[in-house]
Amino acid sequence: MNNSLTSRQLFRRSRIRLALWYALVMGGILGVFSIGLYHALVQSRWTAMEREIESIAGTLHDSLKPMLPTSGDPTIVLHRILPELCLVARPCNPHPTLIQRHTTGISDRSIYALQLFNRDGILLAFSPNQPLSPSLDARPWQTLQTPEGIRYRQFTIILHMAHAHPHADGISDHHLSWGYLQLGRTLATFDAETQRIQWTLLTSVSIALLLVVGSSWWLSGLAMQPIYHSYQQQQQFTTDAAHELRAPLTSLLATAEAALHVSPANKQELQTILQTIERQGRRLGDLIADLLLLTSLEDSGRTVPVSPCCLTDLVLDLVEEFAEPAAAASVELRPQLPGGDVYVMGNEPQLYRLITNLITNAIRYTPSGGQIEIGLEVRHQSACIYVKDTGIGIAKTEQRRIFDRFYRIDSDRSRKTGGTGLGLAIAQSIARQHHARLRVESEVDRGSIFTVEFAQTLPHSASTTTC
Ligand code: ADP
Repeated sequence: MNNSLTSRQLFRRSRIRLALWYALVMGGILGVFSIGLYHALVQSRWTAMEREIESIAGTLHDSLKPMLPTSGDPTIVLHRILPELCLVARPCNPHPTLIQRHTTGISDRSIYALQLFNRDGILLAFSPNQPLSPSLDARPWQTLQTPEGIRYRQFTIILHMAHAHPHADGISDHHLSWGYLQLGRTLATFDAETQRIQWTLLTSVSIALLLVVGSSWWLSGLAMQPIYHSYQQQQQFTTDAAHELRAPLTSLLATAEAALHVSPANKQELQTILQTIERQGRRLGDLIADLLLLTSLEDSGRTVPVSPCCLTDLVLDLVEEFAEPAAAASVELRPQLPGGDVYVMGNEPQLYRLITNLITNAIRYTPSGGQIEIGLEVRHQSACIYVKDTGIGIAKTEQRRIFDRFYRIDSDRSRKTGGTGLGLAIAQSIARQHHARLRVESEVDRGSIFTVEFAQTLPHSASTTTC
């Protein structure tokens, strides 16, 4: 009870640890993915915004270029062509509607800010709000912040004079330029959009993380289930094995104790007791050998050597071998074989053991006067060996359980006849190792048929009847 509690706790702890690892790994992947997505989204919006600024600045440049005065005071001309801009050192009283006529793209003054500098970097005109940067910084891209805390992305473009061809005849940009145009765009909408993306991702990642935690718990439970099941089976097997070993050991010790009280002169009784001890010891030995065999059969990492095995010889050998025990039990044993030899790939000693167990059971559970048929049949590529008896039969409800370790329908009868309760479990394990199917058909008081069906026979095997 205590042991099972600790093992349950151990499995629970392992499940929690597994779920945490699942959640950590899946959460990590989700985190990396969402950071990547966030950067991609922000970057694409940033690039789109810069392209928009660049394109408006280019349009403005092209519209202004033919109208720019080549000499004299530019402010008068500027006031005429851009009446909505404030001119430096003049009172600023722009007409709000005019700006829309000239530059539809920058009509919203709260979004865009325009500045014009002359060739020497002196500010000439600016949008009717504070100039973003009164002194010229000719770097193409800058991010600025107004004293009110509004961020702007600003693009600077050289205003070329009309009819000037940049870079022609080795004349520098500076000599051909009229001045500089700076177009700034507020980052308020961009920042708001970025924040919206942040919130959306944060919310969806949090929900996804909750789902990840839930599914991790469920998945770890699913992963632990077969391990827990196998652990329980192992525990059950250990308990059953200990129980099975204790019974013959106790009776062996009791017999040995009885022998101690027999007078040495009573040779006859001593002889009988020693024979009993020998029989009990042999039974104990058989049980231990069966246990070891079953453990080794279920060791999935172990590979057994296989070679072509002649099933016809196997049936004939076993019929011959069991002729005597069958005669002793007063049952008739007869083979039923196809015309030719039938071969399968397998481990010969194991196949002998499989059929031996079936024949032993048939003899054990068939009353005297009964018949046992050991047959071999071939259909297309598959081969069947069957052991058919006219014995006590097995009830439908028991037919699935008889392949469980230590399961006996009638324990007393089985023990009396020398059964360990492992015979069919061993047979089932061997069949599985050979990719064969072991099945039973039985009717109480009429008899049973145990069939081993091998999926594949080797070429040149005889093909006669059907399984
Ligand atoms: P055991 O060593 O007790 O025979 P097995 O694993 O070989 O153990 O068989 C399990 C149980 O199945 C037996 O106890 C018996 O009740 C039943 N059984 C197996 N073979 C037959 C059969 N041919 N006829 C009737 N009952 C059978």
